[in-house]
Amino acid sequence: MVIVMETLTVGSRGPYVKLVQSLLARIGYNPGPIDGVFGQQTQQAVIAFQRDNGLTPDGIVGPLTWNYFNSFLRGYDTYTIRPGDTLFSLAQKYYTTVNAILTANPGLNPLYLRVGQRITVPYGLDVVFTDIDYTYSILEMDIEGLEARYPFIETDIAGKSVLGKNLYVIRLGTGPVEVHYNASHHALEWINTPVLMKFIENFCRAYATGSTIRGYNVRDIWARSSIYIIPMVNPDGVDLVLEGLKPDNPYYQQLLAWNTTGRPFSQVWQANIRGTDLNRNYPACWEQAKEQEPSLGVYGPGPTRYGGPYPLSEPETQSMVNFTRQHSFKLVLAYHTQGRVIYWLYKNMQIPRAREIGETFARASGYTLSQTPYEAAYAGYKDWFIEEYQRPGYTIETGIGTNPLPISQFDTIYSRNEEILLLAPII
Ligand SMILES: [Zn+2]
Repeated sequence: MVIVMETLTVGSRGPYVKLVQSLLARIGYNPGPIDGVFGQQTQQAVIAFQRDNGLTPDGIVGPLTWNYFNSFLRGYDTYTIRPGDTLFSLAQKYYTTVNAILTANPGLNPLYLRVGQRITVPYGLDVVFTDIDYTYSILEMDIEGLEARYPFIETDIAGKSVLGKNLYVIRLGTGPVEVHYNASHHALEWINTPVLMKFIENFCRAYATGSTIRGYNVRDIWARSSIYIIPMVNPDGVDLVLEGLKPDNPYYQQLLAWNTTGRPFSQVWQANIRGTDLNRNYPACWEQAKEQEPSLGVYGPGPTRYGGPYPLSEPETQSMVNFTRQHSFKLVLAYHTQGRVIYWLYKNMQIPRAREIGETFARASGYTLSQTPYEAAYAGYKDWFIEEYQRPGYTIETGIGTNPLPISQFDTIYSRNEEILLLAPII
């Protein structure tokens, strides 16, 4: 896939400025604070980078400079073997290891490199950045980078959003026990998308090198189970929050009318691009959720809590249900951000082992296992899953504070959840 990025220069702002700043910092150029504001210091860093790479040092990130950045951001380069090359010399040139090159090129024989042969060379940088605004374009770039580096992962598309963006699925493992994790049903809660993406990267690295994570044998989990991850259920909503409302949005006028809060989309928008709250659009007590709406001040499409005109009215929820029905998930995890709480109850249903597994997750993360049904425990993904399959489903609320949580909470959230993500397939 080709991702076209806008030109950035002094005065530019937004998620892609943040991305460039994060990258420059990582490869040894100091852009100043990673704040999404393209100032003098970022310009100086771009000029230094351009100079070192034989580009015109104009301090503007146009198509040529983006091209250079993109190969770093994807995390790999395609290299054509020249006379005298060895994997060791290439590893040195790209700040990586011979082992990482071999992982990215199954079947490559290091003793018989052919001149003219094209190989994938991963950089010694991680693919998934965890200090930036994680837009849909960045998600796509990272999936491409992970696929190149770890060709053994399988990626698929569960369906499309209203605006035609892909609902990507990444599968880890080849075993018969299936579990599913998803994030970002709610647009403001996008921080959980890089949490799942970073888990994918760490899990793949451990699988490739045969190492463990927190004492868990990753190759063993890989052989016994298949973990299906949908890291961004609501890409249109996430981009509205992170990139703002653009004039070419087909819902431009409606969105302005639907946002009656007087506050920017970046602070209030949880719904999909048609103003439907996807986690109130599933057929699990949908009518009861609907009845609550007037008491919540909800009378139609808007930033939050509108359940849509009828259950599964949205392509995103329809895709999630179709995807789920194509599998036999032992359990599911739906990631949200409010409260460091794990919700597991749906109505008064008694699901075998659901409490016990929930307690194990609570111990692993330090989160509280909620003993009361979630006040909004209607019409959500986990509610629908529990009702449909009578198997355990969990809503995990990962952070504390006002949405959107600052990306500075990433490390805390990741480290609290990593063991849950390792445990779920084998518990
Ligand atoms: Zn949520």
